[in-house]
Amino acid sequence: MLTFEEARGMVLANVAPLGRERVPITAASGRILAEDVRATRDMPQWDNSAMDGYAVRSADCAGPATLKLTGYQAAGDAVSPKVTHGCAVKIMTGSPIPEGCDAVVPFEETEEAGSSVNIHAPVRPRAHIRFRGEDVKTGDLVIPAGTALRPPEISMLASFGNAFVPVYRKARVAVLSTGDELVELGESLSSGKIVNSNSLSLAAAVEEAGAVPALLGIAPDEKEIMREKIAEGLKADALITSAGVSAGDRDFVREVLAELGVEQIFWGVNIKPGKPIAFGINNGKPVFALPGNPVSSLITFEMFVRPALRKMMGHPKPLKPLVKATLAEPIRKKAGKTHFFRVRIVVEDGEYIAWTSGDQNTGILRTMVHANGIAVLPSEKTVFEAGEKVDVCLLYQSAGTK
Ligand code: AMP
Ligand code: MG
Repeated sequence: MLTFEEARGMVLANVAPLGRERVPITAASGRILAEDVRATRDMPQWDNSAMDGYAVRSADCAGPATLKLTGYQAAGDAVSPKVTHGCAVKIMTGSPIPEGCDAVVPFEETEEAGSSVNIHAPVRPRAHIRFRGEDVKTGDLVIPAGTALRPPEISMLASFGNAFVPVYRKARVAVLSTGDELVELGESLSSGKIVNSNSLSLAAAVEEAGAVPALLGIAPDEKEIMREKIAEGLKADALITSAGVSAGDRDFVREVLAELGVEQIFWGVNIKPGKPIAFGINNGKPVFALPGNPVSSLITFEMFVRPALRKMMGHPKPLKPLVKATLAEPIRKKAGKTHFFRVRIVVEDGEYIAWTSGDQNTGILRTMVHANGIAVLPSEKTVFEAGEKVDVCLLYQSAGTK
């Protein structure tokens, strides 16, 4: 059977970035830039004052000096006329430096007296001036393609007047739950039925990954209806099904996928939980058949689906980097499979400490709720002592208090 790394490698090898689109900059945060962005002008565009103060000629201020005030310039004002020997212009932060001046003296180092200003100390040339192009020069590569757009990138894009931004398209991800026992939330729960929670948890996970979920509801364990629903799901950029993928009598998902022309890339991975996961490709689009157990479906989503969606949406590094966390308590496991162990990570003295989140049985959702990380425990190792470091995948950007 495939190892975790082999299987995930196959998933990533089979998906590629989707197309591009232009979105308003107000909708660009968190998206991945699809083209290099270069500076279309110098920034700042002109020499300007870094302080509220007086623009002067430093040669006039070799020592304490009194200068005649010939102008006032607030931020946004047009630039004052040329400043001549013995004169100064009162200037606000961000205002263009008038011609003839080569320094700004902050208010704190001066005293205004009527129509002149006393400068207390010698002034260095270039003091408190932000020079044209000192931040960015015309033509500079300011944000390379493949960058996730954060507030600083939005600032840079806006500064250069990009009202629209070229980004990779968001993946539209169909989510289908299968199982005769399922009813939708709000419907009456007769004997033997449970709420279809996977559709909602997987939709939330799709959103957390930055993609757009499309809920297809429930398909019973019956091939006809399942075929219709899956065919509908194959129109999306990716399809996720839950349940019906093990070896049970009524586990029809793989069979129906095959009938609809989905090429199975693998079925079964040496992991716990999530062993029966299947992965296929249909017209270049990925299909993930996840196990039905609510914990297994979320963990396999995190380990396989999320990286795939991130790659499809242009992330150059779709895998979340694992962090090292020190075990607060020992863990034992069987040899033979990579275990995804639910842990509660806390930060103590700036270091990640991992506590088990409790019962690791796949039927226990409570300990998934309590977990904020998944320790990835290698297949052959069985004993992990307290104090030992393990690799942890942080979940949903959370590492908090115990
Ligand atoms: P299966 O993969 O079909 O063997 O299902 C494994 C377990 O997950 C069973 O206990 C199912 O009842 C449960 N399950 C399957 N689908 C869902 C779902 N959509 N929401 C919540 N639990 C589910
Ligand atoms: Mg089932």
